[in-house]
Amino acid sequence: MLHILGQPRALAHLQRAVHSGRLASTWIFAGPPGVGKFNAALAMAKTCLCDHPISTSNCQAGVSRVPALPDDFILTLPCNTCESCIAIEHSNHPDLHVVSRQLIRYHDKSGKSKGTTLSIDVIRGEITGNASEEHRVEAKLYKRSQRNRGKWFIIDEADLMEFPAQNSLLKALEEPPPASYLMMITASPGELLSTIRSRSQIVLFSALPEAVVVTVLKQRGATSEQAGLLARLSGGSLGRALAWFDQEETVAPARPTKVGTATKTKAAKPSADVFTWVQQITAGLDNLANGRCVSMELAATIQSQAEEYAQRSLKQDPLASKDRAIRDGVAVMLGFIAAWFDDRLRNRVGSAVSIPLPSTVHALPESVIAECLRIGRKAEAQLDANAHVGLLLATTTTAWEQAMAARG
Ligand SMILES: [Zn+2]
Repeated sequence: MLHILGQPRALAHLQRAVHSGRLASTWIFAGPPGVGKFNAALAMAKTCLCDHPISTSNCQAGVSRVPALPDDFILTLPCNTCESCIAIEHSNHPDLHVVSRQLIRYHDKSGKSKGTTLSIDVIRGEITGNASEEHRVEAKLYKRSQRNRGKWFIIDEADLMEFPAQNSLLKALEEPPPASYLMMITASPGELLSTIRSRSQIVLFSALPEAVVVTVLKQRGATSEQAGLLARLSGGSLGRALAWFDQEETVAPARPTKVGTATKTKAAKPSADVFTWVQQITAGLDNLANGRCVSMELAATIQSQAEEYAQRSLKQDPLASKDRAIRDGVAVMLGFIAAWFDDRLRNRVGSAVSIPLPSTVHALPESVIAECLRIGRKAEAQLDANAHVGLLLATTTTAWEQAMAARG
């Protein structure tokens, strides 16, 4: 396996499966965004496709050691030097197919897709082919493995699959061709059909410890203060923290837009302006708490920051949906605010972890902060459910203002 940070239980699960020699054909890698699910799926495929996999005891595996496994457990690791391993590094392995949202427009025959969901055309084009018998041979799933070590399919953000897409996949899963493996990556497994979930091996990934995120950020040149702030705000998502910190690099090998070509895409990396955004939002909240600004001003601040975030994302990935990018931006800003409230609550129960932000609302009672946190979480959930962004921000900031005003 590649070295995946902070996920010993998930890696133990995968190593045990490889060791047993009886791999499930369908997998769900579930857990928060940016914690290594995609990298782990890639590592799993790489290991199983490797021409000369290495067997080594866990205690001698160095950085690949899996703390959740016994020392004498025999790990299976990719050699990283064979033709297959190198092809995976270069995103052009003929038996590894990655389905991601970058392919939405590629398969959009109508030209009307908003680029926010994976349609049945994407799943047919990349995996299952047309349902009718005469076209089945066209499907990548039913083609022969080119290097005779099986075929691997990774669906990133699998929860974006529309129901017809999931149904078409389900049909294929009922009788999977031999030596074909499907890994679905998702932060919202509940969005997948229960019939898909019940057929899949589920591997759970957790939020990373803040210390892991801090260490990696510092290795990338962040100061202790920046690393602490981003680690806290990212909620244990290394991918998110790095995307915020660094415009040039990502933790992951860039995800291929189309396996088989050398085209790569960089994850959206709205820059170090994150520090400016955090300060503006905090100032806005402070003003709100002190009655120095009205809720609509804070709503406007968040909206304009989200638009700025979206512009940067779209520069990185011009095929992405603008609506989705703005929603992502709002989610980031709401995430900052939730982290901020959460941190205030934790401080009150004596946690050592703290976001070093200027704030004049320490005096707010715990019950008010808890209520504000609840309002923020509700807004995050509604954002996921496609609520109108402007309206959502207006009602949310108004609810915060009222909660804070009621403290007396
Ligand atoms: Zn190899």
